[in-house]
Amino acid sequence: MKRDSVFIYSDKLLTYRFSKQHPFNQHRLVLTLDLLKKMKAIASEDILVPRTATDEELLLNHEHTYIEAVKMASIGQLPEHQAESFGIGTEDTPAFPGMHEASAQLVGGTLTAVDQVMQEKAQHALHLGGGLHHGFRGKASGFCIYNDSAVAIKYLREKYNARVLYVDTDAHHGDGVQSSFYDDDAVCTLSLHETGRYLFPGTGNVNEWGHDRGYGYSFNIPLDAFTEDDSFLNAYTRAVTEIAEYFKPDILLTQNGADAHFYDPLTHLSTTMKTYREIPRLAHKIANQYCDGKWVAVGGGGYDIWRVVPRAWSLIWLEMIGKADVSGPLPKEWIERWQEKAPVSLIDQWEDPLDMYQPIPRKKDIEEKNQQTVDRALFFVRQQQEQVNRNKEFKRPKSF
Ligand SMILES: [Zn+2]
Repeated sequence: MKRDSVFIYSDKLLTYRFSKQHPFNQHRLVLTLDLLKKMKAIASEDILVPRTATDEELLLNHEHTYIEAVKMASIGQLPEHQAESFGIGTEDTPAFPGMHEASAQLVGGTLTAVDQVMQEKAQHALHLGGGLHHGFRGKASGFCIYNDSAVAIKYLREKYNARVLYVDTDAHHGDGVQSSFYDDDAVCTLSLHETGRYLFPGTGNVNEWGHDRGYGYSFNIPLDAFTEDDSFLNAYTRAVTEIAEYFKPDILLTQNGADAHFYDPLTHLSTTMKTYREIPRLAHKIANQYCDGKWVAVGGGGYDIWRVVPRAWSLIWLEMIGKADVSGPLPKEWIERWQEKAPVSLIDQWEDPLDMYQPIPRKKDIEEKNQQTVDRALFFVRQQQEQVNRNKEFKRPKSF
């Protein structure tokens, strides 16, 4: 029987850990799953243990020499001067024992999710361990070693011949995924992120449209710092709606970094839980409208692992199973269990406090600027639509 949704999880996903102090902390997965359990919104039969990715699968997106370098670093035998050229051993992405196996496990999770959905064992699949969108074909970057989404999209192309729409709402530009498909017209990538002016990785300009055959299949919406819910959601809704209609995908892959939240310590956007409720809601609708429900969602960034990520990521699962209308207090047992371990005071409601931040005078300027950015980003889509309309007219028999 086809399940509605499947949640991909294993404790092995927690082995992806650079160091005790590193901000990328998969303990988020434990907190999220526990919140869903305390909600009684997930049962053990909803959870599927992922397989790991084979070398052959990693090679779909990554260079052989890079995979070999990661394997050497994984056993502490990659010389420093070599590591540098592969982006390994930096402050952001240090080497750690077992890093090859841990990274291949994250990729395996996203491949497991893809197979579940494409083989119609489940309508939707959620793999919060994935979303490592900065991984390049031959280089680690920004906490990411292998790029699970990019491998999974190559796999979707090769094994299922599917047209893929990738939507990335992490606060950072989805540069690694974009670069893997920059010249591909069967994969459309959309990234909404904080402008690269002051934020890693600095790319994701509105005029990064793609290359060659892929021209017009790469979209970027760089938002101004301090963007709030309404403006973020306006940009997201317009972009996703128009691009889905333009591209008509077979499957939707969403990257759900939760670091655009006001509390996130690494970025400068000002969204709240309102945004994290709406993001999966529209994704779900688009998947049903264009892809016969086929929707794979992965995680990504998110560095306030106590106050933000568990709620934001639970809302994706709740949306998948049709129970996203939660509000009011979180389960008391969850708060009690984790408050003593958390270094901050947990938020005990689904909604964020109304006085979380002070209004800023530039709000209107930011909104207008974002509007213009979306107009520019969607220019190509409009042009295409006009072309289609012109062709229709051209084909119409002329009467004299
Ligand atoms: Zn991020």
